[in-house]
Amino acid sequence: MKLIYEIGRTGRTGTVLPSLDVPQSSAVPMALRRSATAALPEVSEQETVRHFTNLSRMNMSVDTNFYPLGSCTMKYNPRLHEKVVRLPGFADLHPLLPQLRHGATLTQGALTVLYETERMLSELLGFAQTTMQPMAGAHGELTGVMLIAAYHKARKDHARKIMLIPDAAHGTNPASATVAGYTTKTVPSDPEGNVDLAALKEMLSPEVAGIMLTCPNTLGLFDPNVKEICSLVHAAGGLCYCDGANFNAIIGRVRPGDIGFDVMHVNLHKSFATPHGGGGPGAGPVGVSSALVPFLPVSRVVSRNDGSCALEYDCPQSIGYIAPFYGNFGVILRAYAYLLTLGRKGLVRVSENAVLNANYIMASLKDLYDRKYDRVCMHECVFSASRQVKNGVHALDIAKALIDRGIHPPTIYFPLIVPEALMIEPTETESRDELNNFIAAMREIAELADKSPEKVKECPLTTPVKRLDETTAARKPDLVLPL
Ligand SMILES: *Cc1c(COP(=O)(O)O)cnc(C)c1O
Repeated sequence: MKLIYEIGRTGRTGTVLPSLDVPQSSAVPMALRRSATAALPEVSEQETVRHFTNLSRMNMSVDTNFYPLGSCTMKYNPRLHEKVVRLPGFADLHPLLPQLRHGATLTQGALTVLYETERMLSELLGFAQTTMQPMAGAHGELTGVMLIAAYHKARKDHARKIMLIPDAAHGTNPASATVAGYTTKTVPSDPEGNVDLAALKEMLSPEVAGIMLTCPNTLGLFDPNVKEICSLVHAAGGLCYCDGANFNAIIGRVRPGDIGFDVMHVNLHKSFATPHGGGGPGAGPVGVSSALVPFLPVSRVVSRNDGSCALEYDCPQSIGYIAPFYGNFGVILRAYAYLLTLGRKGLVRVSENAVLNANYIMASLKDLYDRKYDRVCMHECVFSASRQVKNGVHALDIAKALIDRGIHPPTIYFPLIVPEALMIEPTETESRDELNNFIAAMREIAELADKSPEKVKECPLTTPVKRLDETTAARKPDLVLPL
């Protein structure tokens, strides 16, 4: 496909501007220009629309393809949410509009959405309060770890410098703990895929600030010892952080606050059906037990005696601002619509069907693909391509072969403790027909890997570009536009 710079003609345009009614300003000074002849595309509206529509058709998306990208929860995003966020009363709000003037305001609706979403999430997670500010899961992790640090500091417990993180964890966990100033130590998993309790006990000490646990974990397994882990860490004076990226597996059935966790983020863009991918937008609200409430970021949304909602800034022990204004409002609003649409019973069905779908796939493929842990899974199942590797076919090759079959690849090579990992998360929004289609594709690829492995290794053949050299593409990306 041509670059936009390669189409169009000099003088062609897609806009009609009104005649200038202000003095014309001088052009950008030469000294500030990178090029004397910066080429701008000169294209008509139709050429522009065709160009970008064709570009968008090179994408795989939840709206076009089955998208079982493990840990990312690529569920269907209902169109109702898009309608709700475009309501002018929400979409046209400015973040600096006054909260309260003459008793009535333009912002009460938005504040009520923030407040009620906060209440519903606190109820679902089993926590006293939730901050809506963090803009992503990783941002929520950082917020949560900063809350843990503030808690220890307020108790003058300055010796706690270590954050424990299991070896199955997402890379953002050690990154967030490090940014917050902690030294991280890795807790190994046991042969069942749970936290190794004996190893954990040895690592606990008065220097441990806490543990960051993903629940259910990134192997798609629910650690049956999670309550005991929380008790052990508490007994040693530490706090327990729950990475809630996998909350889709347990929504409405388990409240992490009840198990013993002190603080947790949820990814609204994963579990609560906001479009995501390509880096945003997101929201990672953080729920906390009552002991951590005083440290929550400013501002906090509260309900007043007269029934109105307001933003509270008088929080002397707060860790301060973690984001400008009040969080990613559009994402929170979509989650609000999602929560109200599904209700209590609907949310329970979400997690039930997410787990059922993953187990259906696992049971239908386990004769052809190896698994490191032979257990019932939660909302995602992790296979290993170790059997296919004997024929030279790797997880990467299987992922590419799926693209040719109209399916977005699963997450591969994560979690790190499973060699040749294929991490499949179908979500609850896929029909049995779609799951069967995926299962058939995976079975066909396994057969091909057995009989003609070279056929798998040459995939993809149906995409605009064939297989890229991934290392060179990452290290020396070809981003130079011919001017
Ligand atoms: C997605 C994910 C994160 C990070 O969340 P972002 O919203 O992408 O920042 C953290 N942990 C796990 C297990 C995840 O799947």
